Amino acid sequence: KKGLTKTRETITEKIEKLVIGYADIDDDLLDELEEILIMADVGVNTTDNLMEAVRKGIKKKEINTPEDLKPFLAKKISELLTKDSDTTKIAKEGPTVILVIGVNGVGKTTTIGKLSNYYREQGKTVMLAAADTFRAAAIDQLEIWGERTNAKVIRHEENSDPAAVAFDAVKAAVARNVDILLIDTAGRLQTKSNLMEELKKINRVIQREIPDAPHETLLVLDATTGQNAISQAKLFTEAAPISGVVLTKLDGTAKGGVVIGIKAELSMPVKWIGVGEGVDDLRPFVAEDFAKALFE
Ligand code: GDP
Repeated sequence: KKGLTKTRETITEKIEKLVIGYADIDDDLLDELEEILIMADVGVNTTDNLMEAVRKGIKKKEINTPEDLKPFLAKKISELLTKDSDTTKIAKEGPTVILVIGVNGVGKTTTIGKLSNYYREQGKTVMLAAADTFRAAAIDQLEIWGERTNAKVIRHEENSDPAAVAFDAVKAAVARNVDILLIDTAGRLQTKSNLMEELKKINRVIQREIPDAPHETLLVLDATTGQNAISQAKLFTEAAPISGVVLTKLDGTAKGGVVIGIKAELSMPVKWIGVGEGVDDLRPFVAEDFAKALFE
């Protein structure tokens, strides 16, 4: 539940007030409900779909009073989110390679540190690759997370070829029989075509060593940017096949509804949520729990 407080405030408390404020369901109530969903960054299309479901529910007498709205929405949102939801793909043998992509500042490096910690706690060996070679600070940051979580870090000099780092890391991970290899990448969106070429090249060199890698490509998105996160996700789908989303900074934002939009509008499963800056502040995303937490 941690991290959802603000989103819950915008959605749940407002719906609560709405329910109390109306004796019957009428057009004004439905207009207000629509606005609440939009304000929580659920997304326009998803809001339209939810509103249509509500109208159908009213017709079918599944919703009879304003009180019925809360459980109805909780169920619908949970259904939306659990559709073909995935779990992390793990390699049958050899290292599981997880490529982590996203724009600078979204929390990519922190997420890698948290993931490293998560897998270490599961008793797995972890290696980190500093393929964001354009920022010396990012390389150093990754080194710190490596020390903190007891994971070896593969790094080259600043401005070296990111694909070369990825290649070395995959070779080292195979040679040392590491369980999980997490690869950090650069996220300079202003040079979109370069970024795409770079990601493609990284994928190519990884596959030279492990043909079915990367097993996961996680796109990190910042929940506080709301609908912007959705636009970013669309851009990245052109650069790499994304297998899942990590939504960071859900603590302290009211825009948690973006989780629903990502799933419903982009068909990308949200696999992890970041709920703070600490090493433990990463949670596997469980749709049902999320929907329940919103309406409790
Ligand atoms: P990168 O540029 O994408 O690698 O981003 P960083 O990992 O350096 O993170 C940018 C900032 O966001 C740092 O100050 C992090 O501590 C912070 N951050 C990352 N994840 C979260 C989160 O889930 N919640 C909060 N509140 N802050 C986060």
